[in-house]
Amino acid sequence: MNILSDRQKLLGTETAFETLAKAKKLEAEGKDIVHLEIGEPDFDTPGHIKAAAKIALDQGYTHYGPSPGQMELRETIARHQTERQGYNVSPENIIVTPGGKPVMFFTMLALINPGDEVIYPNPGFPIYESMINYVGGVPKPLKLNESSKFNADIDELESLITERTRLIIVNSPNNPCGSVIPDEDLKRISHIADSNDIMVLSDEIYKDMYYDGLEHCSITKFGETKNRTIILDGFSKSYAMTGWRLGYGVFPDFMVDDVSKLMTNSVSCTSVFIQMAGIEALNGPQDSVKEIMEEFTIRRTLIVDGLNNLKGIKCTMPKGAFYAFPNIRNTGMSSKEFSDRALYECGVALLPGTAFGEFGEGYIRVSFANSSKNLLEAISRISKIL
Ligand code: PLP
Repeated sequence: MNILSDRQKLLGTETAFETLAKAKKLEAEGKDIVHLEIGEPDFDTPGHIKAAAKIALDQGYTHYGPSPGQMELRETIARHQTERQGYNVSPENIIVTPGGKPVMFFTMLALINPGDEVIYPNPGFPIYESMINYVGGVPKPLKLNESSKFNADIDELESLITERTRLIIVNSPNNPCGSVIPDEDLKRISHIADSNDIMVLSDEIYKDMYYDGLEHCSITKFGETKNRTIILDGFSKSYAMTGWRLGYGVFPDFMVDDVSKLMTNSVSCTSVFIQMAGIEALNGPQDSVKEIMEEFTIRRTLIVDGLNNLKGIKCTMPKGAFYAFPNIRNTGMSSKEFSDRALYECGVALLPGTAFGEFGEGYIRVSFANSSKNLLEAISRISKIL
């Protein structure tokens, strides 16, 4: 019997979790696996944030809270965003969510009618495409080109605009490519959105993760785009808090009540004692963010150099996040064949580029959220299938 809705058949997934499950199964069978598949910092959540959660539990923050989030946290986030974005962000526009991911879901549910078109980066985070399909939207992939350091051609973006275009998704720094959208391109995208009355979802979850002294620039800095932009952000990456499930969106005025209703309808509210720990994460010492990036900087060189020394592999240096996205075409293998052989023949779990969309063929994604020792081990193992 299959009584699933038609809509359900449209839902995609995030392959990272599937690959992790396969790798764990192999480990349970006694195989040694190097994990380069999952997108989470391999550091522990800083002690002062854990301590704040424990105190909040003891203080009784164990009941339902307001659907859009604890006002104290929304105020803290608003101050943080005001500082980072350079314009005044009001606590009223913040909705706290269990992780950054629901912001994608809620944005699509609230904005997209069947047949509405959504432009999104490809290769890109797979949940964008999955959610667009799920709500009946029409996915319009915007190719990120290796020749432009995995950035899009903005003329091409412009050519994708039709009267049905409702939303443009930007993600900088980008998962899986580690690319950073140049300010000039953001300015042009902002102009396109403003002049065509198109909403923008700006996924800024990696905004603390830049290399070579680069600094974060949000599309909301240009034109009037901040009034039509949903900023997706959260605590998962910057504070190594993936398992806590704490994120938020900065929503334009007209969306706030309806997205709060979506929170009420789906999860009621984000776990309250965890929200209290979020206040500590933003207000407390920021050394851990710096330390994480110092370590990632060392590993980035190690993995990119290591990959470039392998026959048939060519890897661009990422400018942000903690992913390398090497071109493997000259190995003669497809992305899937490469990642399957890496897992089953050498015990290295990584993702095929196609897990991030059709334009990911010919690439693999390597998360360098693992120790330098394990990264070197992975390179040495991969060399055996080449
Ligand atoms: N956006 C991008 C581009 C991501 O890579 C991820 C997680 O991998 C998320 C959003 C979701 O983050 P969270 O774990 O806070 O839901």
